[in-house]
Amino acid sequence: MGTPLESRGEQAEEVITRLEEAYPDSTISLRYSNRLELLIAVMLSAQCTDERVNKETKHLFEKYDGPEAYAAVSQEELAEDLNSITYYNNKAKYIRSACTTIIEEHDGEVPDTMDELTELSGVGRKTANVVLQHAHDVVEGIVVDTHVQRLSRRLGLTNEEYPEPIEQDLMGIVPEGYWQQFTHLCIDHGRATCTARNPDCADCVLADICPSAKDDSEIDLASGEPW
Ligand code: SF4
Repeated sequence: MGTPLESRGEQAEEVITRLEEAYPDSTISLRYSNRLELLIAVMLSAQCTDERVNKETKHLFEKYDGPEAYAAVSQEELAEDLNSITYYNNKAKYIRSACTTIIEEHDGEVPDTMDELTELSGVGRKTANVVLQHAHDVVEGIVVDTHVQRLSRRLGLTNEEYPEPIEQDLMGIVPEGYWQQFTHLCIDHGRATCTARNPDCADCVLADICPSAKDDSEIDLASGEPW
């Protein structure tokens, strides 16, 4: 197997250095032009690809121009407008409810604290972190999506299984200035090379420091199962 650096902190820094070289333009791939659009795009992206969300929001953001429009539309109509997105019925419900709260409690503005954001329907810590980072320039934590979760475990940066404890581990070893970029780098590498089912370890810039690298390791540390 690849040999990780001595400490998790050193391993994290080496991973960042190499991925930055490989993906110099890494950034968020959801399209939006204001804070509410970002919030809605992130809510829609749960269990759904960014590509599909971007396709759908192109029309959605033309039709709905603010929280009032989402709060006023019927559940049926909004669900119909979202019907190519996974769990569109629930997501329509969450969006209508979140927009009603935004109007009633936040003067129509997307809130800028973790507590207020996570009080909105359908908004968990991951969604709130993305909105804080990209809409408000507030970096309070590390967004742990499925790619960050998988890569962090494969690379030996954490033994935790679930997003919140993984985030705590990562916040202890990823330099604070990289909390935002770390996520984008993991997402790019997770899409291009370290995919869930068939990672291309033979062509991976991290293979020599990755304890899961397929040629040498029998175990995928993300799942704990043999390759
Ligand atoms: S592609 Fe393979 S070597 Fe590279 S990070 Fe993923 S599991 Fe490790």
